[in-house]
Amino acid sequence: MPVIFVLPLLLLSAQTGSAQSFDIIRVADGVYAAIGKPGVFSNGAFIVNKDEVVVVDTHLRPSWARDLIAEIRKVTDKPVRYVVDTHWHPDHIQGNQAYVSAFGPMVEYLAQHNTRDDILGKAIPSVQEQLTKDVPEAIQRLEKALAEGKDSRGNPLTAETRAQSESQLASLKSYLEELKQIQITLPTLTFDRSLILHKPDRAIHIYYFGKGHTRGDVVVYLPKEKIIATGDLLTNGIPFMRDAYPSQWISVLESMHKLDWSQAIPGHGGVQQGKGQLEKLIAYMKDMVAAVKDAIAKGMTLDDAKKSIDLSKHAGDFGPNFPQSNVAAIERTWAELSGKIPD
Ligand SMILES: [Zn+2]
Repeated sequence: MPVIFVLPLLLLSAQTGSAQSFDIIRVADGVYAAIGKPGVFSNGAFIVNKDEVVVVDTHLRPSWARDLIAEIRKVTDKPVRYVVDTHWHPDHIQGNQAYVSAFGPMVEYLAQHNTRDDILGKAIPSVQEQLTKDVPEAIQRLEKALAEGKDSRGNPLTAETRAQSESQLASLKSYLEELKQIQITLPTLTFDRSLILHKPDRAIHIYYFGKGHTRGDVVVYLPKEKIIATGDLLTNGIPFMRDAYPSQWISVLESMHKLDWSQAIPGHGGVQQGKGQLEKLIAYMKDMVAAVKDAIAKGMTLDDAKKSIDLSKHAGDFGPNFPQSNVAAIERTWAELSGKIPD
């Protein structure tokens, strides 16, 4: 399948790397959330065990993964021994190589089987696509806009939009240089439903509950600390839908809800206290999937369904991008329920 990566979203938010890419939040003794600062965007986590460190997700850029390694070293001199890839998306795995570079070949990369297959089949080709097409084209567009003093809609650049464009351009250029060096490191240890690391100080449970945000998302669950790291199954908005299986995602969310936890480290956005945001997402997804099912049963077209389905009562739960995310969710659910997504 063609690889169309979500560059606009990631690049708009990508700024030139600061020395400190993350807010490091200690969520429990030995458990840290790495919340991406504006521009870094995606989160990670690290867990300091008696003998080694476990890292969850590695961000878009190896340089950001190296920034996180520097943060880990401020907390402990123990080596990173395990990296969990929650799913295949580039903003969660492109930094993988930084860990084997820093800590050597003993690092194990853990993922669900489908995630390894999708890193091979989608993430690796997407590096080439970004390198040869998406990023150079985005650079050209910005250079043209700056040269002409107008944005893509023909509006004159203001001092503010010019400064933003210049900052984006610098970021894209440094990203292009990093892309040339990326060698995607694959998961070395894959599993189907679950994998548990039994450590002297805690157990670390990694669960696959079925298809959701992608066909290979896992959560990392710490029963002793009552913490869950969710990847993009849960974010602070409606998660990205392009590779999702929305109707199946609901039962994944319900399985997450059944676990006993009080704090969530989501794939994007701040640490969540309690299950409130998960419950909002479950309520929205149930209503959305039911509405799409109903529209299909009534013989509507997708265009008619998009006009008639009204989920605005959920808008306040998901931030300013709700309208676009909601349409993307309806479209993806329509495709899933019409059998247009391969299993
Ligand atoms: Zn994702």
